[in-house]
Amino acid sequence: MTPTDERELSRRIAPLDMDAEEFRAAGHALVDRIAGLIGSFRERKLTSGKPAAELRPLLGGGGLPGRGAPAEEILEEASRLLFEHSVFNGHPRFFGYITAPAAPLGALADLLAAAVNPNCGAWELSPMANAIEEQTIGWIAELLGYPRDCGGLLVSGGNVANFVCFLAARRARAGASVRSGGLSAGERRLLVYASTETHTWIHKAADLFGHGTDAIRWVPVDSQQRMDVRALRDSIAADRAAGARPFLVVGAAGTVSTGAIDPLREIAAIARDEGLWFHADGAYGAPAASLPDASEDLRAISLADSVAVDPHKWLYAPLEAGCVLVRNSEALPEAFAYTPAYYAFDQGDENPPPNYYALGFQNSRGFRALKVWMGLRQAGREGYVRMIGDDCRLARLLAEAVSGEPDLELLTCSLSIVTFRYAPSHLRTGRPEQEAVLERWNEALLAQCKTGGELFVSNARVGGRFALRACIVNFRTTLPDVRAVPGIVVRLGRAIAASGPG
Ligand SMILES: *Cc1c(COP(=O)(O)O)cnc(C)c1O
Repeated sequence: MTPTDERELSRRIAPLDMDAEEFRAAGHALVDRIAGLIGSFRERKLTSGKPAAELRPLLGGGGLPGRGAPAEEILEEASRLLFEHSVFNGHPRFFGYITAPAAPLGALADLLAAAVNPNCGAWELSPMANAIEEQTIGWIAELLGYPRDCGGLLVSGGNVANFVCFLAARRARAGASVRSGGLSAGERRLLVYASTETHTWIHKAADLFGHGTDAIRWVPVDSQQRMDVRALRDSIAADRAAGARPFLVVGAAGTVSTGAIDPLREIAAIARDEGLWFHADGAYGAPAASLPDASEDLRAISLADSVAVDPHKWLYAPLEAGCVLVRNSEALPEAFAYTPAYYAFDQGDENPPPNYYALGFQNSRGFRALKVWMGLRQAGREGYVRMIGDDCRLARLLAEAVSGEPDLELLTCSLSIVTFRYAPSHLRTGRPEQEAVLERWNEALLAQCKTGGELFVSNARVGGRFALRACIVNFRTTLPDVRAVPGIVVRLGRAIAASGPG
């Protein structure tokens, strides 16, 4: 080793490290900028609406930088780019998909979590963080009316939460042999039952976990988009008679398109009679089970063998945070655990705390729980009940405002989702040519809403008709925001109708 090497490696100055003073200055400046953003959502355009071809050049065309740049400069530039060219789900008139504004405390929680950087795969590496995750899962269960002693873990979102539950169900119903022998270990084909309104996670699960999408039995829905339970019973009976093996039924606690709640109480009873695992997909709607006026069916998520719920939706946590709850806490380790030679956790501990790597897909895990835990502490049960209840009330008022407007047709309103379309009353003839015109107008309207920056809605198909869809999971939305919607949509709709051949 040369003397220079000796000197440099003894007092390393790493390009990524920051001393406390530099970090403090950069951090304070960033927090000031973020405070400015939070204080100005209402005045901002919801989006600049620029297409990809105009955005990419803003980053400059260069390749990977050879030399580094100062942290403050990078933070300043990234803030500017993001503040000018994002779609702000923090804006009071963002009603698209199911995407909530982030609780501001959640942003600070993520900063704190990243600064401490616990690896939440194993308790040994993240003792207090894992204690917080454990408490968070228990609190979410309590909020939803689910047994507090359930098992669970935090994951990236609803898709992965549903995947984890799917695999727990498969292991519980098909037995341990499915983990070593795979699907060919059982001679009868395993089948899943879900309504035609189920979110597309079910396609991915059936496909990726080797069942194939043909293993999904699509149960039809009634006029309110709820699973037809008689068809469910018939389908199970027919499949059994044909020699297949039903193992899982999925009920929606709020469908993604219209917020419909399946008849979960009856589905639970059928699952019990038939020996199936009952999974409730509450990615969106489960938190509404905390409302004093929650329906019996929504409350019946308490009967499910597993529940998926998304804190990054109706608990207003910043992305990403999904949550798995499983009634039998052994079901997750039974489905996921392996103990490799290079881990020596829990030695000599009679009642060891959970190692989350053994309960789900991930090995190394970030500290997602902190932002969720802080939200639950900041708002408490009462705060959540008020915010979720207000979102539902505003959705009902939006539905009322839509039905009071002769050029708009209200299609559905459930939980906090309203679907409707621009359809002047004299054009609602139902004739196919007329319907095709309305569909084109509403598609154009949707595109304008998404890029115009006044209001953001998404879309749904309801009873075959193309609908605009407003989902209010937004604690910044007020009554005037909701009352402004019909006027904006009718103005855009009339302009489209007047400009085109139809
Ligand atoms: C949003 C949603 C999902 C998927 O959740 P992600 O967090 O987007 O992965 C699944 N099911 C339902 C009912 C949903 O609303």
